Amino acid sequence: MERTTWGKGKRRAGSLDDLRRVLHRIDGKGYKAYKDLEGGYDFGRFSLHVDHVQGDPFAAPSMLRVRVPMNLAGFPEGLFGNSIRRMALEDFIARRFGAALPSGPDRGPGSGKSGLVSIDAGGQEVLERTACRVTPHWVEVRIYVGLPAAGRRILGRQAERIHCEQLPRTAEKGLFWRNYPRRETEGFVGCVENQEFIRDSLQRLGLVAFVADGSILPRERGNSQQPLAGERAVAFRSAEGLRVSLDLPNPVSTERPETRITGMGIPAGVTLVVGGGYHGKSTLLQALQRGVYPHIPGDGREYTVTCTDAVKIRAEDGRRVEKVDISPFITNLPHGLDTTAFSTDNASGSTSQAANIVEALESGARLLLLDEDTSATNFMVRDVRMQSLVHKDFEPITPFIERVREIHRTLGVSTILVMGGCGDYFEVADRVIMMREYVPEDVTDRAREVARLHATGRRQEAAPGPAWRLDRIPIPESFDPSRGRRSVKIDAKEIDLVLYGRHPIDLRGVEQIVDFSQTRAVGAAVHLAASRFMDGRTPLREVLDRVEAYLDEHGLDHLDPFHRGERHPGSFARPRRHEIAAAANRLRPVRFRIGPGS
Ligand code: ADP
Ligand code: MG
Repeated sequence: MERTTWGKGKRRAGSLDDLRRVLHRIDGKGYKAYKDLEGGYDFGRFSLHVDHVQGDPFAAPSMLRVRVPMNLAGFPEGLFGNSIRRMALEDFIARRFGAALPSGPDRGPGSGKSGLVSIDAGGQEVLERTACRVTPHWVEVRIYVGLPAAGRRILGRQAERIHCEQLPRTAEKGLFWRNYPRRETEGFVGCVENQEFIRDSLQRLGLVAFVADGSILPRERGNSQQPLAGERAVAFRSAEGLRVSLDLPNPVSTERPETRITGMGIPAGVTLVVGGGYHGKSTLLQALQRGVYPHIPGDGREYTVTCTDAVKIRAEDGRRVEKVDISPFITNLPHGLDTTAFSTDNASGSTSQAANIVEALESGARLLLLDEDTSATNFMVRDVRMQSLVHKDFEPITPFIERVREIHRTLGVSTILVMGGCGDYFEVADRVIMMREYVPEDVTDRAREVARLHATGRRQEAAPGPAWRLDRIPIPESFDPSRGRRSVKIDAKEIDLVLYGRHPIDLRGVEQIVDFSQTRAVGAAVHLAASRFMDGRTPLREVLDRVEAYLDEHGLDHLDPFHRGERHPGSFARPRRHEIAAAANRLRPVRFRIGPGS
């Protein structure tokens, strides 16, 4: 047997028989002896790489890769011929491989995570992720195995069963094209490509979002992303006058061979969504906010497509804000607090919402999504009665209603706003869509008429043309990822909580993180940004450009700060620049300085 050195430890390069021999030899020994497994093994039709062995049966599981040469795997080139198709195929393979893994009862005896084999496959969204990679030369899955033990004693026979019988069987089903359902696979890849085609077409069509006729927008439960099934779900139908058709590059679905799709196009500008309570307004907005990502066929929202840079804006009391110029919205705070470089450890509803908007503009948002349900009322409106009673000199807040048009006119950033409770917005909306029993109707003309008949006399109070200062410069030393003896320790604890060094990043207000693996990636991406692309002179916006270019060029595998060679990169799914920025903005010790441009 040949031994190759790699980093500190010895790594094997051996055969299937070598793997069996090691497992026989260490059977019954202490758990640490599993370390002898690290290395690569040639199984003939594929190779198995044991990149990291867990310290004990209760620790995070061991990291392995299974790689098949493409001449054996046989996936047709057309399925991964461009970056979108490749991403879709990789996602699909991870799902197939995951589905082929034996579940629960089959995992055998043992303590802790013994016998658990898993892969980080996606949910309803299709994201670029590290679980699977396809190149013209090979296809590879990155998996986790709980190496089996009784107490701390190695169960070598069971490990042999997992590696030498179960994995080859799963690999056969999950990594060879001849065992794939051809129509379903082509349908999946084609559907994802269609969605990205629609996204790319939006701008040319003057739209910021598209919702296909027939879409099922509601979810089964509040805490689930599964579509609401059965007759209760009312299928989406475009409002007359907003209906558009597109010709897709692939059939709409496996059941629908046609390539023409119709649905509602939401034009750029300011769009108001009105309607009675429970008539589906928030559901539409939630579909739009997740519509920045492609969805799997059958999700119901697979043809709800929003422009890439749509950012959900909400109030988020208690968050940290660091040197954000919120003066377009808030000035003359009591005690003379500076709002052109506003910092606080505990923002209010309105200041947090103002900061969320300015930060979104800074990270490059093209569309703002707001819902009355999650907005601060005093940030949204100040009606004529309040204007009369409370003099402007004593109201620090310039409500969003006074800026929303300007944000579109001067910055080219559109807004979709759900507002069932206040008609003052009729005056500032380009379009008013009314939801009635889950079906939209274009009521723009009627809303204009109503606004004329019931003029409120509300005055525009704010001076137009505020300066938008969007060039904060992050100070790299303020990003400290160390914890205890570790110089870099970043963990995702929950989908909305990252522990960055010693500091929590609370992401509960960042609604467009949709996958736990995105949270992991967000933490790592903040560190990548800070350690590689911040120099105390470069504005955040440019740092984000560089992070994106880096990930485009090198791939997500490089997010792990300890990543080496071709070893298991961990489980990451790609976040957008807006969520990376959002995490950096919520890291409490982080400091910015104001750019020279302002
Ligand atoms: P609103 O924001 O207008 O008050 P929501 O969007 O919160 O209304 O919807 C109210 C309820 O109706 C939710 O339980 C939601 O799941 C359900 N719902 C939304 N759209 C549909 C639909 N198209 N078909 C069936 N139920 C729906
Ligand atoms: Mg609502």
